[in-house]
Amino acid sequence: MTTVITGGSRGIGAATARRLVRDGHRVVIGYRQAADDARRLEDELGVLAVRADTTDEDDVARLFDAAGDDVTGVVNNAGITSPAGPLTDLRTADLRRVVDVNVIGAILVAREAARRMTGGCIVNVSSGAATLGSPGEYVHYAATKAAVDALTVGLAKELAPRGIRVNCVQPGTIRTDIHQLSGLPDRPDRVAGRVPLGRAGEPDEIAGAIAWLLSADASYATGAILRVTGGT
Ligand code: NAD
Repeated sequence: MTTVITGGSRGIGAATARRLVRDGHRVVIGYRQAADDARRLEDELGVLAVRADTTDEDDVARLFDAAGDDVTGVVNNAGITSPAGPLTDLRTADLRRVVDVNVIGAILVAREAARRMTGGCIVNVSSGAATLGSPGEYVHYAATKAAVDALTVGLAKELAPRGIRVNCVQPGTIRTDIHQLSGLPDRPDRVAGRVPLGRAGEPDEIAGAIAWLLSADASYATGAILRVTGGT
């Protein structure tokens, strides 16, 4: 049971690596820049860490080469935001970068997984923003995550005859570094009042949902888009 996690060196990806190792998976994480974090996870968990930018098809192929022939799980997790703001204020270069990582990167990883897997499950990491829209902050990001949802539905149907399930988790606001990078470090605290459960989520709470979708308990779930947003 080998599972590949992209963007696995921190945040939701790292929490998922910890959870899946506990569940008995052999885990291979791809990372883009945070080599120190990746090495720490290798030491802590015994996972294999491979430098792989998901927007580069050769990197993606190398990641799967390193994982070997028996990949049964893929967590298509790597994703970014840009500095937040109303769409009218956002720079074209930032829009292109978010589309490149969140859409092209996710599709390249899904394609490589589809070429190599002979069964098992792909879990795409979308966002609650895909249906909520994130006005004033990230409508471009929301649009890229809606593409991830569509990728999930289409590929689930395409791969079902080969016994490969494809599902998706839509996290709500989760406490990770992504909010620092978008210039809204206080976002998890700020949104708490609008979340029915009254708080932002923790990375472990997304890892649990991903672990379930990968598990045999979810054997009849494919094409599912699972919202894990505290009720938002
Ligand atoms: P994070 O910034 O902590 O982690 C993202 C990871 O993806 C990092 O390790 C980063 O290096 C990696 N990454 C970015 N671009 C990459 C690329 N081109 N190639 C390989 N790796 C790359 O953020 P996170 O919150 O853990 O985000 C994980 C996923 O969850 C993302 O897809 C994000 O859009 C999604 N998400 C997060 C939240 C949230 O509130 N944290 C909410 C909804 C969805």
